[in-house]
Amino acid sequence: MYQTTAALRSAFLEYFRQQGHQVVDSSSLVPGNDPTLLFTNAGMNQFKDCFLGMEKRSYVRATTAQRCVRAGGKHNDLDNVGYTARHHTFFEMLGNFSFGDYFKEDAIRFAWEFLTVTLKLPKERLCVTVYETDDEAFEIWNKQIGVPAESIIRIGDNKGAPYASDNFWQMGDTGPCGPCTEIFYDHGEHIWGGRPGSPEEDGDRFIEIWNIVFMQYNRHADGTMEPLPKPAVDTGMGIERISAIMQGVHSNYEIDIFQKLIAKAAEIIGVTDLENKSLRVIADHIRSCAFLVADGVMPSNEGRGYVLRRIIRRAVRHGNKLGATDTFFYKLVPTLIEAMGDAAKELKATQAIVEKALKAEEEQFARTLERGLGILDSALAELKGDTLDGETVFKLYDTYGFPVDLTADVCRERNIKVDEAGFNAAMAEQRSRAQAAGQFSADYNAALKIDTDTQFCGYSELSGDAKVLALYLN
Ligand code: ATP
Ligand code: MG
Ligand code: MG
Ligand code: MG
Repeated sequence: MYQTTAALRSAFLEYFRQQGHQVVDSSSLVPGNDPTLLFTNAGMNQFKDCFLGMEKRSYVRATTAQRCVRAGGKHNDLDNVGYTARHHTFFEMLGNFSFGDYFKEDAIRFAWEFLTVTLKLPKERLCVTVYETDDEAFEIWNKQIGVPAESIIRIGDNKGAPYASDNFWQMGDTGPCGPCTEIFYDHGEHIWGGRPGSPEEDGDRFIEIWNIVFMQYNRHADGTMEPLPKPAVDTGMGIERISAIMQGVHSNYEIDIFQKLIAKAAEIIGVTDLENKSLRVIADHIRSCAFLVADGVMPSNEGRGYVLRRIIRRAVRHGNKLGATDTFFYKLVPTLIEAMGDAAKELKATQAIVEKALKAEEEQFARTLERGLGILDSALAELKGDTLDGETVFKLYDTYGFPVDLTADVCRERNIKVDEAGFNAAMAEQRSRAQAAGQFSADYNAALKIDTDTQFCGYSELSGDAKVLALYLN
């Protein structure tokens, strides 16, 4: 049962409808009225004001299958895509919410019942975490649900930073937040990784499937935490992760939706090795890009549009790596619509616009790639020695928009080194010139917390492309 992602989506919403929850549509990927948030990154976003007690609805329990993008902002998973079995730029978050209605007991009971009764997951494969000091949640799991104490792991505030803790959830730097309890599934000994809280937890053996947040505070910009008028519940379960379990596979990329996208991309580009990482990246990126355009984001040089542009170009670049000779990215849209079923309503309605926007961006970038490759070819032909100077790499990037990872790739193929220090110096010099010119005051990106330089990497000392270059060279 529930062998398809579509069936799972319906089963979830139906289970919570029966528990008195209002089924609410997914909101847009562009958060309404929330300048602190780049993209919708969780089911609770559209209910933020309900949690804060600022908005009243006709219901106190809700359930959704929310489309989310985590590429930028506080929760940025872009660098994980293609490398972990469980991270996407775009995913659907199944959630149930209580606005001052039920709290810990029911939230835990519902989740456990859905997983072990409706979906019939074996209990011994599941383990849970609770917030370090949350004895109440520990007792509910242990005494009421019957989870053995050794399968309940207390997780505290890591690295001394109270809000960086795994078991203290927050939407962004401000807003509703609180301690949480998470449910993990053990995919088995044959996969590397350890239980949450262990040194090997970053592996893919124990996969976090469901996060149940006990919303108790509103965090302000100055760091203070004010108790919410009524404690509430916010939960989120990635549909692709639970779908993988139900379909008996380990990686999200093996579920129905991704298999269709990967097969189609392989067919269009002419690739036979379906395991290729680049195919996964493309299958991931078409979802975020198509849904972002459907929700009104257009490729551009700032803000959300800039993030979109970077994701499209990254996908095209991976197609290029696979040997694509023609446009391919937008051609995946019909397969995506079919694969996403009910979740693709808005995408279906805007299909023509989405395809046109993706195609135009791909064509433009293809020209950039072609021109850049030509310039790089001549530079390499004239090269004396075995190192390409940083100035040339920077010029390709800055003047011609040619990505540095591609420069590094081409050089590597020809056994040529890249002058990384020279590139970084040229980049630093350009940044200080730009700053001196006041270019970065009143920056829309800053308001959205998109630092165009560090957005994609999180390395404060290196800019995004410099980091990519460093990764390729090291
Ligand atoms: P992880 O630790 O695996 O990065 P998370 O703790 O950051 O996940 P939450 O913010 O708790 O994730 O989101 C709730 C749920 O959404 C997760 O338990 C997971 O099932 C799903 N999820 C989170 N991030 C992603 C992603 N990038 N791709 C797919 N599913 C995701
Ligand atoms: Mg995460
Ligand atoms: Mg986590
Ligand atoms: Mg989590």
